[in-house]
Amino acid sequence: MSATSDYKISFTTFHNVIDNELTETATTRHTVCPSNEEPLWESPVSTDEDVNHAVDAANRAFRSWSKLSQDTRAEYLIKFADAVEANKQDFIDLLGKEVGKPPQAAAYEMLFVTGLAREIPKLRLKEEKPVDDADRTAIVRYVPLGVGVGIVPWNFPLVLGFGKLLSALLAGNTFIWKPSPYSPYSALKLAELGTKVFPPGVFQALSGEDTLGPLLTAHPGVAKISFTGSVETGKKVMAACASTLKRITLELGGNDAAIVCEDVDIDSVVAKVAFLAFVHVGQICMNIKRIYVHESIYDKFLTALVVTTKQFKIGDHTDPEAVFGPVQNRMQHEKLQKFYSQISKEGWKTALGGEPGPTQEKGFFMPPTIIDNPPEDSSIVVDEPFGPIVPVLKWSNEEDVIKRANASKLGLGASVWSKDVSRAQKMAEQLEAGSIWVNTHFELAPNVPFGGHKESGLGMEWGQVGLEGWCNPQAYWVKH
Ligand code: NAD
Repeated sequence: MSATSDYKISFTTFHNVIDNELTETATTRHTVCPSNEEPLWESPVSTDEDVNHAVDAANRAFRSWSKLSQDTRAEYLIKFADAVEANKQDFIDLLGKEVGKPPQAAAYEMLFVTGLAREIPKLRLKEEKPVDDADRTAIVRYVPLGVGVGIVPWNFPLVLGFGKLLSALLAGNTFIWKPSPYSPYSALKLAELGTKVFPPGVFQALSGEDTLGPLLTAHPGVAKISFTGSVETGKKVMAACASTLKRITLELGGNDAAIVCEDVDIDSVVAKVAFLAFVHVGQICMNIKRIYVHESIYDKFLTALVVTTKQFKIGDHTDPEAVFGPVQNRMQHEKLQKFYSQISKEGWKTALGGEPGPTQEKGFFMPPTIIDNPPEDSSIVVDEPFGPIVPVLKWSNEEDVIKRANASKLGLGASVWSKDVSRAQKMAEQLEAGSIWVNTHFELAPNVPFGGHKESGLGMEWGQVGLEGWCNPQAYWVKH
C-alpha cells in the first residue's frame, strides 16, 4: 500500500486499537471542545482485560519486530510518515477541536510531528568496540527492551507521544500509547492509521480514565514506561515502576527562567520572549515562566512586553488569525482561576490582565497576564502555573540572577539573552537545566535530545540519546 488515498481514514469514530483491531468498550466517555464547551465524540474506557490483551499482543509482536533490521523498521516508519501526512489536515482540525488550538497553533504541532516522522527514522543504534585485539573483542551494543508504554499529557496530544513511539519502534520495541483522558482522540486516530502500516501488536492505543495509567505502570508484561506529565504524577509512576524495575523516562514540569541582559535590542528580544512566554497559552513545559530583566532596561522592557502581548490575537479553533486559543480543559481553567485570584490577595502588581474570570461567554479562555516584579518567594515565581500568566523580575548582579534562576526545584530549560554571545554562553553554562539556550528558548530538533534535570525529569527523549533510552546496553565479549 503506498498511494496517499490508501492511507486516508475517517475522523468521526474513535476506538482502542488492540492487535490491529479497532475494539469497542462497554463504557465510553467524551470530552468537550475547549473553545465552545460542546461535547466531542465518545471514546473508549479501557478495562483491565483490554490492558491484558494489548500487553499480550505487544509481547507476541515483539518476538518478530525486534528481529527485523533497523533499516527494515525504519522503512515501516517512513511509510507511517506518509500515512500521517496523507491525513495532516484532518489531524490539524482534530487538534483544534480536541485542544482548542487555533489552526496556526494546530499546524505548528503537526509541523513538529512531521519533522519527527521524517527525521527519527534516519537515526541508528550504533555498536562500539572499546576492546578489539588479537586476544578478544568487547562490543557495546543496544538491545530493545520489550513492550514500551507512552503515557501522554493533554497539551500536545500528538507530538509528545510521537517521539516516544518512533524511537521505541525503531529500537525494536513494541508500543502502547495511553493518551490523556482530556485529549484521547488524535492518538486513537494515529494508532488506527498504524493498522494500515505495522504488523499486529506493534503499535496499539488504549484510552480511558486516570485509572488506566496505574494498570499499565503495574503490569509485569511492560518493560518501559515513558511518561510526560506533572512532577506529582511522575513520582507516582516512578514508584509504581519500582515493583518490576521497569525502565523509565520521565518528562515532567518546568519553571524556565529567561535572563535578559542590559545590552539587548529590546524590541526584537521582547517580540521573541513575549511569544515564548505565552505560546499555547502558557501550557507548554518549556514556556518561559520567569523573565529576569536587567534593572537598567526593566521599565522599557516591561512596557514593550505589554504592548507586544496585547497584539497576539486570541481566538477559537476556527479562527485563522488567532495566535492563542483557550486553556485545554475545565480542570486547568479552574486551577488557573484560583491562581489568578491570588493576585489581589497577595498584592501582586499587574502590568497586564489579571482578571480571573473567563474572557468569553463559552470556552476556557484566560487573559494573558504579566506580573510586575513580585517577591522572589511568591507562588507565581516558585510554582508552574501552566497558563498565560508570567512574572517579570529585576536583576542587577550576574552571580545573583544565576542563583535565582537555579533556585527552582525544577530544571527543564533556561535561557540567557545578550548581544555579547560569549558572555551569555558563560552565564548559560551555569544554569541547571536539561536544555540551555542563548538568544532563544524552546528551540528543539528531532535529532537533539530534550529532557529535564532535577525534578523536571529523568532521561531524555528524541535524538540518539532518546533512541538508546529504549534499549538495554549490552556488553558482548568474544574470545578469539
Ligand atoms: P498529569 O501528570 O496529570 O497527567 C499526565 C498523564 O498521566 C495523563 O495521561 C494521565 O492520565 C496519566 N496519569 C495520571 N495519573 C497517573 C498514574 N497514577 N499513573 C500513571 N499515569 C497517570 O499531567 P497533565 O496535567 O496531563 O500535563 C501537564 C503537566 O505535564 C505539566 O506539569 C507540564 O509541565 C508537564 N509536561 C511536561 C513536558 C516535558 O516534556 N517535560 C511536556 C508537556 C507537559
